[in-house]
Amino acid sequence: MQYKMFLIKYAEIGTKGKNRYVFEEAMCKRMRNRLKPYGEFEVRREYGRIYVEAFSDYDFDDVIKVLKQIFGIVGICPVMVVEDTSYDNISKAVIEYIDNEYKNKNFTFKCHARRNDKTYPKSSMELNADLGADLLNKFPELSVDVHNPEVVIDVEVRNAAYIYSKVIPGPGGLPVGTNGKAMALLSGGIDSPVAAYMIAKRGVELEAVYFNAPPYTSERAKQKVIDLAKLVSQYSGVLKLHIVNFTDIQLCIYDNCPHDELTIIMKRYMYKVAQELAMKEDCQCIITGESIGQVSSQTTQSLLVIDSAIDKIPVFRPCIGMDKQEIIDISEMIGTYETSILPYEDCCTIFVDKHPVTRPKLEQILESEKALTGKIEELYNKAMESVEVVYCR
Ligand code: ATP
Ligand code: MG
Repeated sequence: MQYKMFLIKYAEIGTKGKNRYVFEEAMCKRMRNRLKPYGEFEVRREYGRIYVEAFSDYDFDDVIKVLKQIFGIVGICPVMVVEDTSYDNISKAVIEYIDNEYKNKNFTFKCHARRNDKTYPKSSMELNADLGADLLNKFPELSVDVHNPEVVIDVEVRNAAYIYSKVIPGPGGLPVGTNGKAMALLSGGIDSPVAAYMIAKRGVELEAVYFNAPPYTSERAKQKVIDLAKLVSQYSGVLKLHIVNFTDIQLCIYDNCPHDELTIIMKRYMYKVAQELAMKEDCQCIITGESIGQVSSQTTQSLLVIDSAIDKIPVFRPCIGMDKQEIIDISEMIGTYETSILPYEDCCTIFVDKHPVTRPKLEQILESEKALTGKIEELYNKAMESVEVVYCR
């Protein structure tokens, strides 16, 4: 059986009062866009709910996969639609629905009927009782439990009858485009795509920046980041990726600063570039995948010193309190893990010292950075002027 319709459930949007329609519309727009390649669908708001109706054949798994990537959706209910709303026909359809959906009928249920046409010959209570009795007659293994049923069978009677009982979980969050824009520092690792995903989940549009260090890093390393950006864009929408050639800046730091401070000073320059790009692109924040204590540059002391490099825009780090395994679990769930673990070199690992500082002091780092004055400014400007942009979708 092919479902004619899906009922879309959402949660947090419901708390938005007068602005609710803005959030609903943003979500509907995204659904329309994403569903387009998979068939003819109408997405509409009706009776304070959102429906997707199919007007062509479609692949069920494709549609569910797409809907599970749209923030704001907490549940997707496949709905059987019955045009002829006579009681006998509805009863037949409910029996067919249960037969198809539940191979094993050893469960408790209750019917939850609603009708908006009050002239319908049966009241909601009568519908519940009669449909329940018909189901028990047909499938004696079933039993009714009105207080704590395993399955609630929803039957809505309007111009047609709508039958559903299953809820496929959606990603939750808020529709992208309802909460500003962020610049994500996207490396080829596991953490940063997860961090970007988590901020997009709160309705934030994304752009991203990748620091490339050719010839120390390969074309494949860059392609890996583009691939990760494409995976994230399934959730966030088109993602503008800025690829910064960081080699000369890194070499300048390498040649002039103490090697145990390289990572810290490099990160400070990454942040500076990211801040400038973010402001140019109207982003209100920067996102990184840092997590306290994960590596030497992510101790609280290191984060303080790195953070001090910029002061115009906040850095959000959604992974900050998570264990590596928790981050990995999310990356597996969102489908970035397999790409993240491909073994291509990263610009940070190439210039990393054997014994990097773990408790840097800002004054000491500022002192070391003085050696860059008069040399690095030109390289910084050159890097900014030669940014390559790739639209990932
Ligand atoms: P990830 O798994 O995201 O690569 P990581 O554990 O390797 O993170 P670091 O290398 O210390 O940690 O990087 C911390 C954060 O800095 C990353 O999560 C990312 O946001 C940013 N970052 C690091 N390297 C790059 C890069 N080459 N381009 C863009 N951002 C980077
Ligand atoms: Mg990394």
